[in-house]
Amino acid sequence: MRKHIVAGNWKMNNDLAQSELLITNLLRQNKTSDAEVMIAPTFTNLKQAFESLKDNTIEVIAQNMHFAENGAYTGEISAAMLKSVGVKTVILGHSERRAYFNETDATLAKKVDAALANDMRIIFCFGEELQDRKSDNHEAVVEGQIKNALFHLEADAFKDIVLAYEPVWAIGTGETASPEQAQDMHAFIRKTLADKYGSAVADSVSILYGGSVKPANAKEIFGKPDVDGGLIGGAALNAEDFFAIVNAF
Ligand code: PEP
Repeated sequence: MRKHIVAGNWKMNNDLAQSELLITNLLRQNKTSDAEVMIAPTFTNLKQAFESLKDNTIEVIAQNMHFAENGAYTGEISAAMLKSVGVKTVILGHSERRAYFNETDATLAKKVDAALANDMRIIFCFGEELQDRKSDNHEAVVEGQIKNALFHLEADAFKDIVLAYEPVWAIGTGETASPEQAQDMHAFIRKTLADKYGSAVADSVSILYGGSVKPANAKEIFGKPDVDGGLIGGAALNAEDFFAIVNAF
C-alpha cells in the first residue's frame, strides 16, 4: 500500500518564537490517522524544530535547496547543509519557486539530482496555471513538468520521490480543485509514470494534492483512490486545522 503523507509548508511565515509556539500546539494534537506527518519551517527555524520534535514522529523537512554542494551562491543553502541539521526530505519545484525565483524544469532536474545524490527524499511539486486549464492544456503542461525534471532518472530513484500536484490556480486562493479534478489528474500522472517506468513503480509512488486543502474538504479529496495525501499551505499554520486534515485519513 502507498504511504499516506500530509506535509505542511510554512513558507516564509513564523519567526523562531512563533515557530516554537506552533510546534508546541502541534504536540498537543491527537493523531488518529496512518498518515506520515511533515512540517517545512523556514531554514532559520529548522534546528530548533528538530530539537522540539526529537521525541515525535512529525518529520521536519526543508522548503527548497540549491543544486551545488557549496560555493559562490550567496543566499543559498545546499543539501549537505540541510543534512547537517538533520533534514532528510526537501520540497522542490513549488510553484512559488517557479514563479518568483525563475526555477525552470532544467534547474529542477539539477536539484533533483543533487538531493538524490545526498540520499534525500524529495517532494516534487508541479501543476498547471489557470489559463492552461481553461485551454484544456493542463495534462500536457503537467506531463512536461514531470518528464523534463524527472524522466532522466532510473526507476529505482522513485523510491525516494513523492509527487505533489498543485494547480497554481488553487494555491492560496481558497479555490480548490474538485475531488474529481484532483483524481483525474492524479490518475493521469500515475499513467504517465506507468508508461515510462511500468505500473509497479507508478503504483508505489505517493501523489499528494495541494491547493487550499482545509479541514472541510480534506476528507473528500483524500477519499479519492489516487490521492495519497496533501501538501498544505495556509491551513498548516494552525495546529488544530492541520491535524484535522491529517486525521481526515
Ligand atoms: C502550497 O503552497 O503548497 C499550498 C497548497 O498552499 P495553500 O494550502 O495555502 O493553498
